[in-house]
Amino acid sequence: MVASLAERLRAGTVLGAEGYVFELERRGYIKAGPFVPEVVLDFPEAVRELHREFLRAGADVMVALTYYAHREKLRDVGREGDLEAMNRQAVRIARSVAAESAADGGAAGGALVAGNVCNTWAYDPDDPFTARAVRAMYTEQLSWAAQEGVDFVISETNDYLGEALIALEVIQGLGLPAMVTLAPTQPHLTRDGYEYADACRILAAEGAAIVGLNCDRGPRTMLPLIARIRDTVECAVAVQPVPYRTDAIAPTMETLRGLDGSRAFPIALDPFTCTRFDMAQFAVQARDLGVNYVGICCGAGPHHVRAMAEALGREVPASKYSPSMNLHPMFRPDVSARDAAFLPSWNA
Ligand SMILES: [Zn+2]
Repeated sequence: MVASLAERLRAGTVLGAEGYVFELERRGYIKAGPFVPEVVLDFPEAVRELHREFLRAGADVMVALTYYAHREKLRDVGREGDLEAMNRQAVRIARSVAAESAADGGAAGGALVAGNVCNTWAYDPDDPFTARAVRAMYTEQLSWAAQEGVDFVISETNDYLGEALIALEVIQGLGLPAMVTLAPTQPHLTRDGYEYADACRILAAEGAAIVGLNCDRGPRTMLPLIARIRDTVECAVAVQPVPYRTDAIAPTMETLRGLDGSRAFPIALDPFTCTRFDMAQFAVQARDLGVNYVGICCGAGPHHVRAMAEALGREVPASKYSPSMNLHPMFRPDVSARDAAFLPSWNA
């Protein structure tokens, strides 16, 4: 019996893992630029494998890869005709991997499956026609997801509270729990002018089960914002930062600059990547703030997720291969005199 989202939130921290689009782009299965998850239909095994890697690393939720799988984006890449198949297949893949975990007797009896929608780039708060178009896109995507079977829906990287509220209504119309998170690209306000904490308070009042932030900011610049949200709402809070070392000068991954001053986002962010230790520390800090759903977004690797799970006190399937530096030839306590002779050159 798989524990429900509500049961898991009551029992402790839920560990999320995302970043499928960035990781599958690095692996050569998604085109940077449009970032449409064509991989779901073209290389389903690649998606299945990444789900498995996050699952083995301790993720409690398999998020269906329907990010940017909406009508407008598929039109951009000439695949509008594949819209329904792509959305249904993404949920089927996530479900099949979650079922494997249940069969294995994985954590809490297996992983939950989340449907997923995101910012559409079609919404304009001053144009009611766009709200109708967004609602239609979410409705078709999430109706297919609900038919395939999801435990809840994550609406994420919302730039506008208005667009997030449309997603929330559609999710509630399907009778599913909603996790709605905002993309904190600006210092304090959504693009339609709400303080992030205020926007979360409104989403919570409208019935979202979980509210919070995801994407754009790394742990250091995300935590102060999520602390305010935690202080503002009663419901569960989610935080899923990007694993990049953002700071006061470059608070978002979009503002990070390479040594030559060029923009690092989105495909030259590698030198800013957080270590697994950074993310482990973040997971503990978020939990200690009272955040209920702690995860990771664009840039994530399974090693980050495993370190977060272990920092939260869990042993996960991939823990079998967690580091044992006491067995490293140079770092072991009984390092041989011959190998120890190399240490000065390593310390130079
Ligand atoms: Zn992201």
